[in-house]
Amino acid sequence: MDCLFCKIAAGEIPSAKVYEDDLCLAFRDIAPQAPVHILIVPKAHIASADAVTKDNSAVITHIFETIPEVARAAGLTNGYRVITNVGEDGCQSVKHLHFHILGGKKLPESMG
Ligand code: AMP
Repeated sequence: MDCLFCKIAAGEIPSAKVYEDDLCLAFRDIAPQAPVHILIVPKAHIASADAVTKDNSAVITHIFETIPEVARAAGLTNGYRVITNVGEDGCQSVKHLHFHILGGKKLPESMG
């Protein structure tokens, strides 16, 4: 499958990795939109949050258990934002589920 984040998860394309385990990978966004901008992705391909089912959702729990650890390690002690974009209207550009972890400054209140 020609999927950028599958290739990053497989180590075929380099990334600025900040965390990795058997199920997920976190790496710095190549075009950061905040002082800290990390993406956390499941290693197994899931197209988006809209493709989460009972059969593949265990990794979502795992990712949300991992996010506080990643955020702490990145120095996000005063809060942060977790976002996932879905589909065309959500402006999802990479069709592999990923959660943006944004922080390091007071973020804008508006989300859309
Ligand atoms: P989204 O628009 O929600 O699909 O987010 C995709 C994100 O992936 C964007 O913030 C991009 O800057 C980021 N991105 C694209 N290619 C890479 C890459 N090779 N390494 C790290 N981040 C990337």
